[in-house]
Amino acid sequence: MNEKTFRNCVYIVIAILIIIFFTKDIPFFKDDFYENIKIVDNPSNILVLVNKNNKLPEDFIPNDLQPINLACSNADKKLVGIVKEKFEQLCHDANLLGYRIVAVSAYRDYNYQKELYENYVLEKGLEYADKCSARPGHSEHQTGLAVDVMGSNEDYDEFEKSPEFEWMKDNAHNYGFILRYPENKEKITGFKYEPWHYRYVGEEVAKIIYENKLTLEEYYEKYLNK
Ligand SMILES: [Zn+2]
Repeated sequence: MNEKTFRNCVYIVIAILIIIFFTKDIPFFKDDFYENIKIVDNPSNILVLVNKNNKLPEDFIPNDLQPINLACSNADKKLVGIVKEKFEQLCHDANLLGYRIVAVSAYRDYNYQKELYENYVLEKGLEYADKCSARPGHSEHQTGLAVDVMGSNEDYDEFEKSPEFEWMKDNAHNYGFILRYPENKEKITGFKYEPWHYRYVGEEVAKIIYENKLTLEEYYEKYLNK
């Protein structure tokens, strides 16, 4: 490469960097999380999509909440009836194989989520809070269809390192659950990787999502054209 060509290359690289710098904030490059928010009109549907752009009504409470058996939960936690049943079945089957999978968080109402989120903001700042915690109305936990679990290492935050996680990765879908916030899908789901958070969608949809390595957002786009 002669000197002139090299210099031209440098100019081109600088030009590209300048373009990136000035365009990174225009809408095309920016995500639209917490913008154009729609209020969910089917909050009781097991396929309901709740995320940063789809918000549950503030007063929505699922009508079939049932307590999870304490053999499968670390305290008094509730899930929607069918989800509770499937989760207990999962917990029981895993147990027979020597795994211990326990719910540490399940249904959370709007006000509790508000408190959790606001505490995160106070402690860690808005940006970090938005990555780890949902704003009130935007949490799947308000649907009664989502559950956070811990394994035998007894720390949900370290669930990924437990043998139970390996089992859940390949078996949760058989009970209708999906890993809702997979690794490297943050730009789609809006949330960082959460190995402990599982969402009930029913066996049929869970299988499709599992086999095609999708998120619920991608499932909607691909199969429900939304
Ligand atoms: Zn969760």
